[in-house]
Amino acid sequence: MRVIDLIRGEKPCLSFEVFPPKTSANYQSIQEATEKIAALGPDFISVTYGAGGGTSDYTVSISAHLQEKYHVPILAHLSCINSSHEGVKKQLDAMRAAGIENVLALRGDVAADRPPDGSWYYHYASELIREMKSYGGFCIGGACYPESHPESKNQVEDIAHLREKVDAGCEFLTTQMFFDNNIYYNFLYKVREAGITVPIVAGIMPVTNVKQIKRIVELSGTALPQRFRYLLDRFGSTPAAMKQAGIIYASEQIIDLLANDVPAIHVYSMNNASVAEQIQSNLSEILK
Ligand code: FAD
Repeated sequence: MRVIDLIRGEKPCLSFEVFPPKTSANYQSIQEATEKIAALGPDFISVTYGAGGGTSDYTVSISAHLQEKYHVPILAHLSCINSSHEGVKKQLDAMRAAGIENVLALRGDVAADRPPDGSWYYHYASELIREMKSYGGFCIGGACYPESHPESKNQVEDIAHLREKVDAGCEFLTTQMFFDNNIYYNFLYKVREAGITVPIVAGIMPVTNVKQIKRIVELSGTALPQRFRYLLDRFGSTPAAMKQAGIIYASEQIIDLLANDVPAIHVYSMNNASVAEQIQSNLSEILK
């Protein structure tokens, strides 16, 4: 099933994100966590690729396993910045052989151990997208940043580069997380003004602990609205209360987005099945 067809379908689409193990040592426990999320039956599951810089040996195997056992459509992530063209081709061959139809094509971030001689390097996700398009057969998605990518000079340039990605063959975009829906609505307006017409899946992160949010803000520069800060101040030191408040906050964001006809929501569930389950249960009637 192609993700673009799910997003363009009649009912709103809900997806969850899982990440594969970094090493074989914790393969079993991570696979079990991802299975619990797959068992919830979301419209699709996205499986990350070596987030934080490295490549990932397990994205394809976890994706193939979930697809086969739970018949859930998979959106496998693939980043290019630390790979050679040959390495990317190998990954695409492996995805094709595993029956993976959907790929989120990313640049990624430079790994600490990337060799310095980089004549073979990719520079931007648009190069990967172009290559995948000529490889053929995949439904291709890309990333976008309602508060601009941290490296971009300004939002006008960032959106111009986003347009290049879409022109290269990206059929839908998924946003970086945001905690104020007005940021998404403003971005959507600007993106449409720039002639980008593909669906923009809204990425929502249920924040369940304070450490996690501090790291996210450091890495992505995501703005925290005052309403959200009060919640962190009040419940941050009580894990169970923080988890409940974070899930309710994310659920309210999602309800507002769906009420405004956003066609698809992606939840950064990070292998946390109980968070995914509670979000899904909060939306059970709304998503019908
Ligand atoms: P690009 O689209 O290439 O953009 C990167 C920067 O380059 C932007 O500032 C853009 O404006 C600029 N740019 C683009 N084209 C040009 C050009 N021609 N000239 C000059 N500047 C240009 N990372 C992982 O490692 N694994 C994952 O699984 C993963 N999943 C993600 C999922 C989502 C939904 C999102 C939003 C991000 C994800 N990331 C992941 C993080 C992502 O890899 C980083 O944010 C990375 O820094 C940028 O990747 P990109 O594909 O958006 O890059």
